[in-house]
This record gives sequence, structure tokens and C-alpha cells, in this order.
Amino acid sequence: MNSLSNESSFWMPFTDNRTFKANPRLLSSAKDMHYFTPDGRAVLDATSGLWCVNAGHTRAKIVEAIRTQAAVLDFAPAFQLGHPPAFEFAQKVAAIFPDEFDRVFFTNSGSEAVDSALKIALAYQRAIGQGARTRLIGRERGYHGVGFGGISVGGIVNNRRAFPLLPGVDHLPEWGTHLADALESIVALHGAETIAAVIVEPVAGSTGVLVPPRGYLERLRAITSRHGILLIFDEVITAFGRLGQATAAQYFGVTPDIITCAKGITNATVPMGAAVAQRRIYDAIVDSAAPGIEFFHGYTYSGHPLAAAAGLATLEVYREEGLFERARALAPYWEERAHTLRGAPHVIDIRNLGLMAAIELRPREGAPGVRATEAFHRAFDEGLLIRVTGDTIALSPPLIVEETQIDQIFDKIAEVLRAVA
Ligand code: PLP
Repeated sequence: MNSLSNESSFWMPFTDNRTFKANPRLLSSAKDMHYFTPDGRAVLDATSGLWCVNAGHTRAKIVEAIRTQAAVLDFAPAFQLGHPPAFEFAQKVAAIFPDEFDRVFFTNSGSEAVDSALKIALAYQRAIGQGARTRLIGRERGYHGVGFGGISVGGIVNNRRAFPLLPGVDHLPEWGTHLADALESIVALHGAETIAAVIVEPVAGSTGVLVPPRGYLERLRAITSRHGILLIFDEVITAFGRLGQATAAQYFGVTPDIITCAKGITNATVPMGAAVAQRRIYDAIVDSAAPGIEFFHGYTYSGHPLAAAAGLATLEVYREEGLFERARALAPYWEERAHTLRGAPHVIDIRNLGLMAAIELRPREGAPGVRATEAFHRAFDEGLLIRVTGDTIALSPPLIVEETQIDQIFDKIAEVLRAVA
């Protein structure tokens, strides 16, 4: 059996398995800004893998930290026991997050970070005597991973429609400053006393880099605060430098109550995520609990030693190389080059913020998404990794990207757009 044929055992996630297996595109190694294919072709990574390899690939310091940790303490349970790397890493994450955020609940993915944050919000409301607040509010076109909590508050129809969802969930309409006021309507409809939390991505990533209008996040913060509703920023994509700061909360100057993160937390080397809460949230839950376990939630691998070691080394690389500042400094050039695609074939919109950009293409008549997928395949075959979501090309290079590589990215995309029908 050809292990890559349709008989292959690997059931690929979020993949058109039949198309892939008919014409597999494989990656076999990576270094800094590049992937390499099994036949040795270099592919410039314009997507940080999947929005996650923010410091570039196979960085020596991180590799070494994982190697060393694996030989010293491969695994230790975090239930009723502890190990130093997890404590040290939580401290270091808290130190670069906004001031009040100093309680870090580790998970293994963004999806788990989201479901953990939703549970923390519900536990907090109960702890302060607001147990009737069980409603959760997301946003249309929001992506919050694939757990049942995440798909319920998420707004991506394809991810939801085949599954039963949590009850008591509402969705804000898509962006628009005045649309933040839709939250007031939802509050009026259900009563603030039934609503636990609102969750949004500060900049929506997976649905195509949707940048919030000026004042939108501030407005959400004002309304949620007024009504005793927690605000969760899902920063699985935006945390760890994408916008030139440790978090989008710092970039926008808006302080939520809980921040979820993953991906760049370990430079994607070892799976890890976290729900990071303000101290008062932890205190309310822990102080009000009966003696014993205060919060009945956790994963075998929460704070896994390898992930914690990888995370510690990753934060050192970010700091030593000034990568968040670098992203900030490169953002104007990135923006300028992204907008050179204005007028390129099929382009109907260009959006950018920090080192993220979206090039939205006009869908081909009767075949949504196909043109962008063809662009993705062609770009890959010609040495550039882009990401497509629907008819949008989404870009998010490692923060070590050079200006000449930014040129290569947009020149190649222009060429590809001229070539696809
Ligand atoms: N939340 C956001 C905003 C994301 O972008 C993602 C993944 O892209 C997730 C959650 C889910 O993360 P994971 O795929 O690690 O479960």
C-alpha cells in the first residue's frame, strides 16, 4: 500500500483528504524562515506554519531546552504535585502579559484554552454569587477552536452545523463599532443577570484577518463592565508578538478579564495553550471553595515539562532578539508591500495589522474558495507557503522575516494571482 494513497491511515484534520492524498504536498524539515520538501525544495513560510512559529523554525535555543528537559524530567503529573518548569513558566508569562494577569491555567491547545476560559468564567460567576449567569456570547465569524464550547461560541457555520451545541449561547453581529452596541440588545433581551461572559478575538484571524474598527473593543469593554459580564480575549493568534506586543490587549490598550493563548507560547514546538486570568478571578474561585480541589478542571498534560521548558526558551528568544519590537518596526513596510497588491487580478480587499495581512479574492462564479485554493497550491509549488481561508489569503510570517523576504512574499503572490484564472 502506498502510505500516502487514499488507503493511508492518517485521517488528516481540516483537510480535503481525498484531494491531498491524490497529490500530497509534504514538508520534511524546516529552518528559520523556510520549510523544505522531501525533494529538497525550499518553501518560504509566510504563515508561521499555522500562525504559530513566531520566532522561526528549529531555533537552536528552543531545541536544546526541549532536548535537555526530556532527559531530566520527561513527565510529571500536575494534579496535586508540581514541577519547577511549570511554575517558572507561569511566572514568566504573567510578567509579559498586562499587569493584572498573573494566574496561568495551562492547556495543550487553543481549543482547550478557550473551553478552560469559558469554564473559569462560569466558575467565577458562581463564586461571586452570580450562579444564574450561565449564558455565553460569541461573535459571528469568530473562531475559537473545535471543542464543544469553542464551536458553540464560535461563528463558523461549517464547524458547527453537524454537531449539538451548548445551550444559552448568543452571537454578536460581525464587526462595526455600532455593532458592539448589539451587546446592549442581547443584554436587554436576556437580562444581564443571565450572562457570564463575552468572548471575541481582538483581531479575527482564521476567518480572514478582520481588524476591529476603532473603538469597538473599548465599547465591548465598557458594556461588559457595566453589566458585570466577563470579557475574554481569544489571543491564540495575536498573543506573543503578532501585533508587536505580548498581547493584543496591550496593543489596543483594552483590558479584558481573561486572555486565551497557545501557538506562539512555545513557538509551536511542543503543544501548549493557556487561559490567563486576572488575579481577582482566581482569588474569587479559590477563596470561596470548600476545602479541597477548588476548580474541577485540568488536563494530564497541563504544564507539561517539555512544553514549559520550550516556552521558557521561546520567551528568551523573543526577548533577546527583540522580536515583538521587530514586528512593530516592520509593520509599516509590511503594510506598504501588502497594498501593492491593490489592482492585482481578483483582489477585492486588503487588510493588515501588525505582521498579519489578508488578501481577499473575488470568488469564482459558482465555486467559492476554489480560486484561493488554486493560488495556495501554485504558490506552494513555486516555493511560498501561504494560508487560505475561503477566498482570502491570510499571511502571518515569523517575526524574524527580512524586508527582502517580505518583497518575495508579495511579488510571488502577485505572480500567482496573474496566473490563476
Ligand atoms: N482560538 C483562535 C483565535 C484560533 O485562531 C485557534 C486556532 O487557530 C484556536 C482558538 C484553536 O487552537 P488549536 O487549533 O490549538 O486548538
